[in-house]
Amino acid sequence: MRIRSCAAVLFTFLIITAVSLAATTVDGKGAMVLAHPKQAGAGQPFLVRLTSVRAFDKVFIRWMDREFVPSVSQWNGHHVAIAMLGTDVLTIKPGRQKLLVRAWAGGNETVWQRSVSIIGRTYPRQELNLPSKMVTPPTVELKRIKSERARTRKAKNTWSDQRLWRLPFHRPVEGKLTSVYGLQRVLNGKPKDPHRGLDFRAPVGTAVESVADGRVILAESHYYAGNSMYIDHGNGVISLYFHLSKFDVFPGDVVKRGQIIGRSGCTGRATGPHLHLSISIQGRLVDPVPLFDDTIDQLLR
Ligand SMILES: [Zn+2]
Repeated sequence: MRIRSCAAVLFTFLIITAVSLAATTVDGKGAMVLAHPKQAGAGQPFLVRLTSVRAFDKVFIRWMDREFVPSVSQWNGHHVAIAMLGTDVLTIKPGRQKLLVRAWAGGNETVWQRSVSIIGRTYPRQELNLPSKMVTPPTVELKRIKSERARTRKAKNTWSDQRLWRLPFHRPVEGKLTSVYGLQRVLNGKPKDPHRGLDFRAPVGTAVESVADGRVILAESHYYAGNSMYIDHGNGVISLYFHLSKFDVFPGDVVKRGQIIGRSGCTGRATGPHLHLSISIQGRLVDPVPLFDDTIDQLLR
């Protein structure tokens, strides 16, 4: 497999060289190269990249139960479709997951039926004792919690055609990480859902900055997450910021990578001031850490 992909890279290189040396040469076939990792840890994000010397008529990707059309950009004379994919530590079981990619160019269709092995990962465990009303919400709040869940589910599943994100993501605050993704929480002796985001140390009022270019789709107060902001970065990638003390931007606003979007706080069910950040990929909450550290090439391996 490694030899084949090296051969594919060499082949593409030869094609690019041929095209750049003789721009008027009619390229009869139009080579396409698909890159993706063969395996990924449970809850970890990864990328799929399809590169072509010919313009795509259309690209279609199916990963697990979701289908979508990724946006295509041009780079170095190539047509490149990049999609961010991943699994959610809450629901994923280790094993193979199907990846289907279909591309049309010059009237011809090419189909790749691949798979990505999802590898089980052991995440750290944390035991906490909290006042019982913070663990079990009062009955009077259940209706509110249910309606918030429906709204946030919809926001996390937002799809917009234009990809605005780029890697690496911008860190939303400077403070150090106090809680990682996947942490298995046991509250008052009862196992709870794993922590599906990152907690950053951030005194109340710390400027919180957007991880990437995007558009604000939700800014409201929720029972658990407090003042919450959801930003759509396009092609199914949404960032979530919780427990804010103040919003600086509002639904419909367009934001740039690194722009201040609000101030940190301890609203909602927070044990102290901090920023909670989650990243949703087509509704699945993934580990944000690799998106700050890794470049596109690292997430394709
Ligand atoms: Zn958190």
